[in-house]
Amino acid sequence: MTGAATLLSDVFGFDAFRPGQEEIVHAVAQGENVLAIMPTGGGKSLCFQLPALMRDGVTVVISPLIALMRDQVRALQEAGVSAGALTSGNTPEETDAVWDALERGELKLLYMAPERLAAGSAMGMLRRIGVSMIAVDEAHCVSQWGHDFRPDYLRIGELRRTLNVPLAAFTATADIETQAEIVQKLFDGEPPTAFLRGFDRPNIHLAFAAKDGPRAQILNFAAARKGQSGIVYCGTRAKTETLAQALREGGHGAIHYHGGMDADDRRIAERRFQQEDGLIVVATVAFGMGIDKPDIRWVAHADLPKSIEAYYQEIGRAGRDGAPAETLTLFGPDDIKLRRSQIDEGLAPPERRSADHGRLNALLGLAEALDCRRNTLLGYFGETETTCGNCDLCDKPAEVFDGTTAVRKALSAMLRTEEWFGAGHLIDILLGNRTDKIAQRGHDSLPTYGVGKEYDKREWQAVFRQMMGHDLIRPDPARHGALRMTDAALPILRDEATISLRRDSIRSAGTNRRPAVKEMVSEEDAPLLSALKAQRRALAEAARVPAYVIFTDRTLIEMAEKRPTNLDAMAGISGVGAKKLERYGETFLQVINGAVNDVHPTRRKLAGRAAGTVYDQLMDAQAQLARGAGGTDKPLSCSASQLAKVAQMRSADAGALERLLGERRAERFGAAFLAVLSAA
Ligand code: ADP
Ligand code: ZN
Repeated sequence: MTGAATLLSDVFGFDAFRPGQEEIVHAVAQGENVLAIMPTGGGKSLCFQLPALMRDGVTVVISPLIALMRDQVRALQEAGVSAGALTSGNTPEETDAVWDALERGELKLLYMAPERLAAGSAMGMLRRIGVSMIAVDEAHCVSQWGHDFRPDYLRIGELRRTLNVPLAAFTATADIETQAEIVQKLFDGEPPTAFLRGFDRPNIHLAFAAKDGPRAQILNFAAARKGQSGIVYCGTRAKTETLAQALREGGHGAIHYHGGMDADDRRIAERRFQQEDGLIVVATVAFGMGIDKPDIRWVAHADLPKSIEAYYQEIGRAGRDGAPAETLTLFGPDDIKLRRSQIDEGLAPPERRSADHGRLNALLGLAEALDCRRNTLLGYFGETETTCGNCDLCDKPAEVFDGTTAVRKALSAMLRTEEWFGAGHLIDILLGNRTDKIAQRGHDSLPTYGVGKEYDKREWQAVFRQMMGHDLIRPDPARHGALRMTDAALPILRDEATISLRRDSIRSAGTNRRPAVKEMVSEEDAPLLSALKAQRRALAEAARVPAYVIFTDRTLIEMAEKRPTNLDAMAGISGVGAKKLERYGETFLQVINGAVNDVHPTRRKLAGRAAGTVYDQLMDAQAQLARGAGGTDKPLSCSASQLAKVAQMRSADAGALERLLGERRAERFGAAFLAVLSAA
């Protein structure tokens, strides 16, 4: 049996295990029954792929989604591992190849969709081929109460009994109920060896912002990450479409996705996102399960998620390859109202509803946190020893003030109007605005009328939003959303407790300035990274596989930074295993070493000048659109001297670009070039 560490570096090209992997690999390779709970991006697949290579016979992998299975199989084959999938999506040739490999006794991993287990023939087949172990990916699909339930997962227990082989189950789902259900359904209640990895995802940057022109906030966030794959989660289906449109107008490749689309369109969208480099998908939470893309660079929430668990799961889709990834979650009083009313108006029994309010409160606590987000988030999952330095509040501590008096004034305005009004009217009372509504109801004679003039309307809005966030007040659905005080506010009202509030970032947000594009590497390595990505894209397109199947972003970043000059040095890059070295090593070495020497003379003239960077960004934008936004048009590009001229344009507009580039090129690249120029 070859050692795990040797296989790790020879086959997968990784020089070290991720935290927790080694113990799991060891237990699985020993033939123990295992339940491993690891965060998304923790590297679960390796925990059964590696043992599969260490053990004799075939490892059967049950995985819920055909497209993802095929990608995993492709990735394994690229690494030189004999793997195959039996799915309804197979061509007859693919199925034959799997059978041949089985017959020759070579196949190490056989991927199957759970539906396949329903066919009477499957069991007999699996008995014949010498299965030595079962691995179950996304094991929480066995849970009848979760939204990913797959009835056919219930057949896995029977499969394990029939074959009488060890089973290793993997999931990223944290909650205890689901874990218990997995043990019950997959292991007949016999507790397996369990591994629970910490929940921290140190490479993901956490940030929240109060809504203030939310569309512009999202567009700016995306503009600063142009060309990187991202997800924008929205609260409604309609918004996914309008926001995707707005992003396209901003020069991004963007598509929408929601549960109301028919199954085929959803599949096409999932596929495009998986395969294409740098695409943005604007989606409802229906988007996620079909996604196994390790190089998603950012996740933004245009609306507040429904709970802290949902938040964690959604942001967790970013940065599975371990390279830096960023998130931004927007929230405002309307989100809080909406989420509360969804819980109150839902059909769940009362104790469940109160637990749901608790989960929402935990998320709001995170949104309104006064110090490190990561501490707050992981604290919720029971982890206390955390280091961060990678969240907005570690970057720039919140400005806080003693909000006790403000909160008491607001509460008093609520109570004196018998908790029948929303924030808008209450703020008018505090500010002493004589509106019709105030005059009609005689609220100008209340003692609280006009006592809050030390703050303006926006500041009071921020106070009310934070009071909702701290669950001091809640909208009451029975009173059309009028705010009512909760018991949590009593100590403040009675002057027994104080409260710190954030001075809102709203005033300093300055959302109208277009942010500069952030690069994943230093400015000096950026052009090389683009060239490496272009090479990867060409190979991936030729092989019709997602780009990361060739190399992940992380691997390319390391290449761009370390600039290996020969195959030995190339082998030392994380993610370059023996097979990939043999297949792609030379090609990428050429890009690296060629790119250093063979700078286009036109570009060389711009070296060291701002226009040089702009030139590279234009090249990048051009590469993205080489075959049009949909990737299906005729290839088209501009000459180096055209690009150099664009890069040096002082005042750019669509007309000037068209004069320079001609109609066809202006049509394809104009918007994207203008976006580059206005960000420069
Ligand atoms: P999960 O299923 O837990 O979300 P994956 O198994 O898809 O995660 O792994 C996520 C990414 O991390 C993949 O790109 C994988 O190649 C990479 N990876 C896994 N283990 C390691 C390791 N030990 N070193 C470097 N990269 C790793
Ligand atoms: Zn932090």
